[in-house]
Amino acid sequence: MQEGVKMETASDINLSMPQRVIERPLQLYLFPVPEERKGTEEVKETVPSYWKGVSEKDWNDWRWQLRHRVTRLDQLKEILELTPDEIEGIRHSKGRLALAVTPYFLSLMDPVNPNCPIRRQAIPTKEELHLSKNDMFDPCGEDKDSPVPGLVHRYPDRVLLLVTDQCAVYCRYCTRRRLVGTSERSITQGNFEEVLKYLKTHKKVRDVLLSGGDPLLLENERLEEILSRLRAIPHIEILRIGTRVPVTLPQRITAGLLRMLKKYHPLMMSIHFSHPREITEAVRRACNDLADSGIPLGSQTVLLKGINDKPQIMKKLMHELLKIRVRPYYIYQCDLAMGTEHFRTSIATGVQIIEKLRGHTTGYAVPTFVVDAPGGGGKIPVEPNYVISREKGKMVLRNYEGKVYEYPEPNVIEFKKTRLMGERRAATRKLIG
Ligand code: SF4
Repeated sequence: MQEGVKMETASDINLSMPQRVIERPLQLYLFPVPEERKGTEEVKETVPSYWKGVSEKDWNDWRWQLRHRVTRLDQLKEILELTPDEIEGIRHSKGRLALAVTPYFLSLMDPVNPNCPIRRQAIPTKEELHLSKNDMFDPCGEDKDSPVPGLVHRYPDRVLLLVTDQCAVYCRYCTRRRLVGTSERSITQGNFEEVLKYLKTHKKVRDVLLSGGDPLLLENERLEEILSRLRAIPHIEILRIGTRVPVTLPQRITAGLLRMLKKYHPLMMSIHFSHPREITEAVRRACNDLADSGIPLGSQTVLLKGINDKPQIMKKLMHELLKIRVRPYYIYQCDLAMGTEHFRTSIATGVQIIEKLRGHTTGYAVPTFVVDAPGGGGKIPVEPNYVISREKGKMVLRNYEGKVYEYPEPNVIEFKKTRLMGERRAATRKLIG
């Protein structure tokens, strides 16, 4: 959250660590695999022996998952074979970006391979300690566009409302690392009242995006209070929730949450996905339940070096998303957040990925690639160039295979249309004498 934003602790979340059984060497075991999952490559949810003995009921309880988040080096050492770089990164993560990983998300990691795409997203490395000259404290310039603590108002008709600084898992490339995980608290009532006052007087605002941190980490009652009071403002047409919880804590998508969310339509959800391996049976179920509740789902993906910067990985991700009824929405160029240079690719990498998607697969599977302008200015779409030249009366274009086509510009069409209409009128006159 921003400086000056007062937060209050989510009351019923006990963050103390559990008793556990430690076993060496590291062994994994699976819960029984349902028939329909057998033989699919997506079976990745293996419970590390660290939690051996946990009941299936507890494992599937989002509060249990939150209470048992792994936050310390000694814990991680018992679950993963850490590299010296990771150990150094973890040791120094304090004061930079909190470290916390749900047991569920940890269960998707390869315990011996430090290049595992799930592991790289959540386990700090010493590269995070390197600050590049391009790094920025507030890469998207949100703080300067904040009229009220917790609210970012950049575009005329929509606002961003930061309702908590807590996330289930802290992504090492987080744009908002200056805020998230600092207190693990939600927006105070006082600040929320200020936000409502502001929104009531700004009648052009028709769209509120709840973000943070992760809004789905609020208890249902608190989230409902926020949604219902926003919904009561007549000029607010749509509500949106930006979240990574369906990916890092899919157990949170409970019947109670769905029942509550359904009351506040039109409500949309943007879900942060990074890699096809994130799409497990639990995630599939969570997204299907959200979609069945009438919530349009879109994906947001940060382009990350060594994680998803290959066209075939992005294509697989987009296809898997469509299968779980999530419409690929944005791929973001990685922002210039502090200590994240090792995750950044060139912008050209993103353009190449779109080039390999557009025309090569279903249009619905092609998201928009955007660069969030450093320092503020919003999202700028960057596309492959399909226009070869523009001449008087025509545009010369290329298609996804590189074949060249000419499109006659509207002035030519209008001329033809006028001529056709004239011919039709003459024919009609002839007919009726
Ligand atoms: S879930 Fe979003 S806000 Fe939270 S750490 Fe990841 S990128 Fe940042």
